[in-house]
Amino acid sequence: MKCLVVGGAGYIGSHMVKHLVRAGHQVLVADTAAARPGIPWVGLDIADAPTLDALFAEYRFDAVFHFASFIQVGESVADPAKYYQNNVAATLTLLQAMVRAGIQTLIFSSTAAVYGDPQRVPIDEDHPKSPINPYGRSKWMVEQILQDFDRAYGLNSVCLRYFNAAGADPEGLLGERHEPETHLIPLILQAAAGRREAVTVFGRDYPTPDGTCIRDYVHVTDLVSAHALAVDYLMAGGASTACNLGNGQGFSVQQVIDTARQVTGREISISEAPRRAGDPPRLVADASKAKALLGWQAQFASLEQIVSHAWNWERQYPWH
Ligand code: UDP
Repeated sequence: MKCLVVGGAGYIGSHMVKHLVRAGHQVLVADTAAARPGIPWVGLDIADAPTLDALFAEYRFDAVFHFASFIQVGESVADPAKYYQNNVAATLTLLQAMVRAGIQTLIFSSTAAVYGDPQRVPIDEDHPKSPINPYGRSKWMVEQILQDFDRAYGLNSVCLRYFNAAGADPEGLLGERHEPETHLIPLILQAAAGRREAVTVFGRDYPTPDGTCIRDYVHVTDLVSAHALAVDYLMAGGASTACNLGNGQGFSVQQVIDTARQVTGREISISEAPRRAGDPPRLVADASKAKALLGWQAQFASLEQIVSHAWNWERQYPWH
């Protein structure tokens, strides 16, 4: 297959690129940042329709993987225009260019944030969609656009709703780094490595057993394998759909810190802070649809594996 990976220089996108290259596919990364050395990369803003048209005319892609989006909830509240512009408007430009070029297969990075405050846990795909911030709304808008594009233009898509993406390439070649870093596991491991003084726990007064928030952490390599299965599913004639990706098991912030203490053998200092706005107490996936429909099976479902792969990366590449 010829694959375009939009956002292929980022955390999950770079792991996808590695998987596709290993599987023998031809891959081009389109990203505003440079891809890993050795991977063909075009510096591209997907809001640029003429450049997209030229790219699609030159390479006849069989499938597009779309990972490029802004992902910070707090920032999306403070600057919603940035999120609607990049996550929705620019994505619409990409989708229109795909339709013009006759590319009919898209795998889209969506999120558990489309559900908003859960009415029931574990959350299945039919759970009502009522995102509570512009980030979640931007992803849900794209999902709805994709439903309409399928009906009108025959653009087939699988939207994969990630719960908490975490971990790193088991071979140690890739890992997670955001600037600024806001995600729990990298922040904990930076504290373990002495790169920051402490990790802040946002709230101990949640209605959970230890009072801290519960999340469903899913290994980035398992996310990637779901994308590969999703593209096979569409290529085999599967209908457009959306699937949750999670392990169906929740861990509290305190449990993640305790696991990191075990895995690293280091002291990890904690500082306490009030709840972060917009954080529901408990988010856990019902991912049975991905298993039944795509044949997805998580390979690295344990929190110890997720944290230990992330720790290998943290120690190997502390300057990243
Ligand atoms: N969290 C925390 N301290 C931090 C970062 C995150 O206590 O410095 C908590 C956050 O409140 C949430 C969980 O860790 O309950 C996971 O947060 P993250 O930002 O990693 O992912 P999100 O759930 O927002 O997608």
